[in-house]
Amino acid sequence: MTASLDTVRLDLGARSYDILVGDGVLSDAGERIAAVTKGRAPIVVTDANVAPLHLDSLNAAMIEAGIAPSPAIILPAGEKTKDFGHFQTLLDDILGRGIERSTVLLALGGGVIGDITGFAAASALRGIDFIQVPTTLLSQVDSSVGGKTGINSRHGKNLIGAFHQPRLVIADTATLDTLPKREVLAGYAEVVKYGLIRLPDFFTWLEGNGQRVVDGDSAARRHAVTTSCRAKADIVGVDERESGDRALLNLGHTFGHALEAATGFGQTLLHGEGVSIGMALAFDLSVALGLCPAEDARRARAHLASVGLPVRPTDIPGVAWNVDELIRSMAKDKKVSDGRITFILANGIGQAFTRRDVDADAVRAVLSESVT
Ligand code: NAD
Ligand code: MG
Repeated sequence: MTASLDTVRLDLGARSYDILVGDGVLSDAGERIAAVTKGRAPIVVTDANVAPLHLDSLNAAMIEAGIAPSPAIILPAGEKTKDFGHFQTLLDDILGRGIERSTVLLALGGGVIGDITGFAAASALRGIDFIQVPTTLLSQVDSSVGGKTGINSRHGKNLIGAFHQPRLVIADTATLDTLPKREVLAGYAEVVKYGLIRLPDFFTWLEGNGQRVVDGDSAARRHAVTTSCRAKADIVGVDERESGDRALLNLGHTFGHALEAATGFGQTLLHGEGVSIGMALAFDLSVALGLCPAEDARRARAHLASVGLPVRPTDIPGVAWNVDELIRSMAKDKKVSDGRITFILANGIGQAFTRRDVDADAVRAVLSESVT
């Protein structure tokens, strides 16, 4: 059976590539993989959660296209894998296989696997090709598209890395059926983000259909993933290295990162949950600065909350938030210059913009209100 699929093209001249989206696309993707690997086996990198769930279907697809799969490299699951130690082991394993410039890596997993594998591809022999097969909603709508790869340092998240675009992205929404609900919701926050940034009609569609996306309706998931990938591809296509519009993708992330930092970047608050709260706060801040109608902020928060995402710091149980600490953390953000924090604000739903001179007192007022 051939699954129906959407193809989103990311246009970057010679580095352009397709993002294939659909329910079951992985089982039919063997030929597309073979076209990138010239019929040879890619080195598959995955994690210990994903391997038993989805490696067989990837291998079956490759066998069908005449590729004899080689054993996958299976890393431990979780954010801690994105460190120097695992990166070194991974590269040694890859080099130990006697690779050539034409060897292709294939990342099968969430953003952790995609980021570390992409960076390994950027580094091995000064750069080899890689394919992304994202298996979390977050990685399907965000991390697998756009070419940011990397690992964490003890100085912070994602501080070591490279821009290295994949040759192909295969986003099979059927792989999301095994994803824990909390991870689905965290990824969904990034879906909502595209609506809030520049797609007001998509946001309205999500108000009506977002619950179906979360619950696993395959048509709704495909539409949400395709629209999100198209939005990201359009932005990255004009601003690959984040000198302009790509920064809009950070909506909710300045507040969100501070909240994540305060909770140790762990299970207390997932990245997408921090982004959900952060987007609600960015709309509050936009209202407080007289830039956005209160009704739009209310709609943004109401929709996120309606699917079960947190929208206030106080929605996270058991955390004693400290506003000074949150502000200090934001002031250390990459996006600060001269003590003034760069924010993504909005004139309304679908009308986000970058503001480089947001007053720290206004930020403090919004945060203080939100934690009480
Ligand atoms: P993740 O890769 O840790 O996956 C979340 C969890 O789900 C893991 O335990 C994983 O093993 C499990 N999992 C994955 N697929 C599954 C499936 N189909 N069924 C069951 N379990 C499954 O996390 P993530 O949320 O996908 O990605 C987060 C990472 O992505 C962070 O490191 C973040 O920095 C990075 N990121 C990168 C970019 C980028 O542009 N490169 C953008 C956003 C986020
Ligand atoms: Mg994000």
